[in-house]
Amino acid sequence: MHELSYATSILDTILNTVKEQEKDGKKVKKVSEINLEVGKLTFINIEQLKFAFEVIAEGTICENAKINVKFIKPLAVCRDCGYVGDIKAEDEFEIYCPKCNSMNLKFKGGKEFNIKNIVVEFED
Ligand SMILES: [Zn+2]
Repeated sequence: MHELSYATSILDTILNTVKEQEKDGKKVKKVSEINLEVGKLTFINIEQLKFAFEVIAEGTICENAKINVKFIKPLAVCRDCGYVGDIKAEDEFEIYCPKCNSMNLKFKGGKEFNIKNIVVEFED
């Protein structure tokens, strides 16, 4: 289950980021929200990701943090007419260029996995 390795990387990144911020003398009480950007082509199961994160975040400042996910769609690039943009996918396996109906497409992006930002609560 590769969701666990994604969860571990989120936790590591956040804990390091928070440590950096705390150098200014502020102490982070907890991380309340985590905003992620996830490309659709990563095929990450978000429910499994949340579950894995919940388990490994227990006892850290990220315990009970709410995870919000914004999905990023890949861009289609038509090899026949040069169209770049969204495509109408009737279903995942029948995809074609909206301009020339070619199925000779490749995809750009959609494999992003970014922590966009986090919401923290500081200690008084
Ligand atoms: Zn085309």
